[in-house]
Amino acid sequence: MNTQYFLQQAIDLARSNVMEKGGRPFGAVIVRNGEIIAAGVNTVLETKDPTDHAELRAIREASRVLGSELLSDCEIYASGEPCPMCQGAIGRADLKAVYYASPKEAAMKANIVPAGSNQNVPYQYVEMANGSEPFELWIERNGKQDQAK
Ligand SMILES: [Zn+2]
Repeated sequence: MNTQYFLQQAIDLARSNVMEKGGRPFGAVIVRNGEIIAAGVNTVLETKDPTDHAELRAIREASRVLGSELLSDCEIYASGEPCPMCQGAIGRADLKAVYYASPKEAAMKANIVPAGSNQNVPYQYVEMANGSEPFELWIERNGKQDQAK
């Protein structure tokens, strides 16, 4: 098993998602110790959920399979270059490596707008008297250590 083999699995998932389900051309697999433990395809058109990207769906499945929010000993193989949202999730899950087969320019050429491409959504901090209360509650109940790292 090598990098090209796992990338081909991701590409095959992307192809079958287009051909059999009319979905967008993205697939991803997560590999641990040389074995595929989770896979996902983009189901945004079907579910209307803008977060249903192949990488996120594969991460969710891998977390369920391993019973852990951290996938530190896993790699992800994606048919296309992960978007900013998936890059964030990949970092959050602490995956150890990312491999992709097609750069984002290919998706843009296919007129598929990368998620997270709107950089103009306004974010605003609002000062609230009890705004940090949930964190204080957490510390009260758990100390300052999170179970994750
Ligand atoms: Zn994505």
